[in-house]
Formats: sequence, structure tokens, C-alpha cells
Amino acid sequence: TSTETDTDLSDALRILRRVFGYDTFRGEQQDIIEHVVSGGDALVLMPTGGGKSLCYQIPALVREGVGVVISPLIALMQDQVDALRALGVRAGFLNSTQDAQQRREVESAFLAGELDLLYLAPERLKVESTVQLLDRGTISLFAIDEAHCVAQWGHDFRPDYLALSGLHERWPDVPRIALTATATEATHSEIASRLALQQGRHFVASFDRPNIQYRIVGKNEPRKQLLDLLRNEHAGDAGIVYCLSRASVEKTAEFLVQNGIEAVPYHAGLDSHTRARNQSRFLREDGLIVVATIAFGMGIDKPDVRFVAHLDLPKSVEGYYQETGRAGRDGMPSTAWLAYGLQDVVQQRKMIDTSEGDAAHRRKLAIHLDAMLALCETVRCRRVQLLAYFGQESGPCGNCDTCLSPPQTWDGTIAAQKLLSTVFRLKRDRGQKFGAGQVIDILLGKRTPKVAQFDHDSLPVFGVGTDLRDTEWRGVVRQLLAQGLLAVEGDYGALVLTEASGEVLGRKRDVLLRKEPERAARSTRAAKT
Ligand code: ADP
Ligand code: ZN
Repeated sequence: TSTETDTDLSDALRILRRVFGYDTFRGEQQDIIEHVVSGGDALVLMPTGGGKSLCYQIPALVREGVGVVISPLIALMQDQVDALRALGVRAGFLNSTQDAQQRREVESAFLAGELDLLYLAPERLKVESTVQLLDRGTISLFAIDEAHCVAQWGHDFRPDYLALSGLHERWPDVPRIALTATATEATHSEIASRLALQQGRHFVASFDRPNIQYRIVGKNEPRKQLLDLLRNEHAGDAGIVYCLSRASVEKTAEFLVQNGIEAVPYHAGLDSHTRARNQSRFLREDGLIVVATIAFGMGIDKPDVRFVAHLDLPKSVEGYYQETGRAGRDGMPSTAWLAYGLQDVVQQRKMIDTSEGDAAHRRKLAIHLDAMLALCETVRCRRVQLLAYFGQESGPCGNCDTCLSPPQTWDGTIAAQKLLSTVFRLKRDRGQKFGAGQVIDILLGKRTPKVAQFDHDSLPVFGVGTDLRDTEWRGVVRQLLAQGLLAVEGDYGALVLTEASGEVLGRKRDVLLRKEPERAARSTRAAKT
């Protein structure tokens, strides 16, 4: 109010206004800041764009000493520090990109108490000289950014983060605040136990991003589908297109450029100069598209990203949520669009089978993938399903594809039985395993050379599936995979039965399937004529 004088304000609010130029706190920022200012430990779960940085930056300015921020985002430290300096905050960083001279300067500023914030890469804490340096200064707090990196259950584990469990033993009186934009309940509790934050206060904001419209479509001609999306809905908009491989990043970027859309590639195989240039063009220019692997994006703060498109299936819901979360930080309507197909499932299962690590690790990857597939195949509101994954309840959102045009479902029990019994017969009678293509050819009664070669036209199931089309059968396979009623194995994505398949074959279980768009379209046409 107008009678309010500056001295009536709390230190935190004064700093919010004077240093950062904002009027009021957002969401739980004030509670979090007060808690940390008074010396409490905190674990903060808040979506991207929620305003996590101020939650440790302001307490660091209020409390005596230097706030030490642990962050894996080495490439962004310079930018973050520059941005703070521009506001008059005394900030510095220590990481592997510096030479000895630069490091010495930061170290002496730290010891002289001439810093408010010191950003550290996690591996620095494994170096004894860094630990000794911290011992000789005054630390106001530890902020552990991207705290999900400590969780092996999550999607972005970094071994260096495990060393952070020692912070509170070494500096028991220094408050710690851990922050992340992504955490299922499992990851949440793993972060708390690894960082010994069970006793701290946990602040869990809503993970909903209401301005993001979630859409997941079947993949036919992915680049063309992407082009349609860009031309019809996002002409001139800035956005990120994620692809799984470096090769497809390059091809997709070229394809967009050839079609008159400004796009640049970004992946770990490009030299650091090109990467830095493409990243800064994206941040500074209007309406540029970055086609990237998931190496791109963490910590990038561009408010007006209007769409995030995935041309390949993300490996986990957590990854999907974090990547799509880069859209619409400014609160304006934005699109999260994903195209996925059967090949994605086959490819990812294969990657899991051949991944390094033990059986438990592979099992974890498989569970993550299953949750992602369930999100793709759901007939419920995507947002309800997404938030439920993070342990948050909500009602249908009206702003996702399944809310806007509810998918039609059909009783796929008989189709599933036909398909599963084909897989079963191939294995039982002949000891053979085949991929979806061959199984579908058999069902459709196609006498291809490969069908002839294996004498598959003599099977009793040959041609029993002509009531569905090829694309529809592919949809059946995909959905059976997503529901765990079918599995793939080996290099060529051979279909195999699961334990649950038996329930369908034994007529103990019905199978509800989502109609493929073509099928839905065809049946409405049929209804009209
Ligand atoms: P996060 O780290 O949670 O993704 P940031 O800390 O980068 O979010 O904040 C997102 C954006 O919101 C930034 O541009 C930031 O300056 C702005 N912001 C944060 N807190 C406030 C506030 N209280 N009032 C206005 N803008 C804010
Ligand atoms: Zn919805």
C-alpha cells in the first residue's frame, strides 16, 4: 500500500523488489525463503518456470556468508553468473572450464567474503582442496539444483551427485535447500534419503502446466506431420524438436530448412563452438527452431518457447515432462506434441535389452518405458494421467487431445486373441519368432515371399484378420505392448507372449483398445453413407 515504507518490509521482500525488480512472491516462494532464511533445510519440488532460483538466491543475500549452489549445468554457469552480476549480485563459479588463474580469483573473492553466491559443479566437491576452501569461508546455505540427479531411480542420474550426501555431515549448521522440477514419489523419497533431507520441510507445488496443450499422435510420416504442425499452428514460433539420434537431428533440421523454416541442429556430436552458437541464437532470436537430442535444454530459460515436439518416444514420463516443460514458461498457450509408432517401442525395447548395467537397471528402464507407453495409449485425459504419475490428482483438463476429441474405444478381445494365437502357434508348432510385420502379413493372408518361404500360408490363422487393415493391426500390436499383453525381444523386435497373454487367450480377460484415427474416420464415413 502507499503508506507502506521500505523499512516495514521483510528483508526478503525488500530484496525481491530492489534487486530482482518483482513486486510479489509467487506461489510458495515466500514460505520457502523464510524457512531457509531461518536456517531450515528444504526440499522443493516445483515445475519448470515456477521460480525456483529465487528460493535460494534471496536467502543467500539475506543470510550472512556465501550461498554455495551445486549445479550440473556447467555450460550455463557463466550466463547465470553474468545475469546475477547485471543485477548487482556478487556471483562467481568454479568448474572445469576455468584455468588456474580464473579459479584463484574466485577463491580469493570467496575467502574475502566478497561473494553472495558461488556456483559449483558437483565434481568439485570430490576435490579435497575445494572442501578445504569451503571450510575456510563462511557459507550461508547450500543449494542443490536439479536435485533429481542424485536419484538412481530417476531418469537423469549423475554419480557425482552422490557425494552431496556428505554435505550435512561436514557442515551440520549450514541449511540446505534441494530443488527439482521433476519427481515422482519414488524419486522424491530417494532424493530425501540420499541427501538426508527427511527431517527438512518438503514443499511440493502443483506440477500442472495448464497453458501447455498435450497431444500424442500416431507416427506415419513424422517429418511431414511435423511440418504440418509448424505451418498450420506455429508459423514463426520458437520451438524445440527432440529426436533420439544425432543423425535424425541433422536430417530433420535440414528438412525444415529445405522447407523454408529456420532451424538449427544441436547434439553432443557437434563441436562446442557450433553448439554454443546455436544455443545462443535460440535464446536471442525470435522464432528459431532447435532440432536436438535430449542433450539440449536443461536450465535453458527462454520464456516464449511455443512448442516442444518429439519425433521419437521419450524413455520415461519424467523425461517427457521435463522436456515438454520447456514450452510456455511465459504462461501463454503452448503445444507439447509427440508422434510415436510401433517402431519406437521395438527400438526402445532393444535398447533396454542391450543396455549396460545389471538386470535391476534394465528392469527400471522397462518400467519407465511402460509408464510412457501407458501415457501414449491412454483413453483418459493426458494431464490427469501425467499428474497422477507425479502423485497429484486432478480432473479432466479440456486442453489435451483426449479431452478435445475423446478417442473412441472398441472391444479388441477377438483381434487380440487372433494376434496372440498367431504368435503362440509360430512358437509352439515351429519354434519360430517373428516381428510385427510378418505376423500381420499372416493375419491379413498376404502371400509375400517371406510368407511363402516359411510356409506360413499353411497356418490355420493365415488370413483370419482381414477385417482390420494393416495400420489397425499395427495399432493392436502397439497397444498390446503398452498393456503388457505382448512383448518384443531380440534385434529384430520379435514378438513374444507374456504371462498376461495367457489370460486373453484363455478368455479370462477382455481387451479394450483405442481406435486408430483412420479407423475412427472410416466408421464415421460408413455411418454417413
Ligand atoms: P525455474 O528455475 O523454477 O524453472 P526460474 O527461477 O528460472 O524458474 O524462474 C522462471 C521465471 O520466472 C524467471 O524469468 C524469473 O525471473 C521469473 N520469476 C521468478 N519469481 C518471480 C516472481 N516472484 N515474480 C515475477 N517473476 C518471477
Ligand atoms: Zn485433458
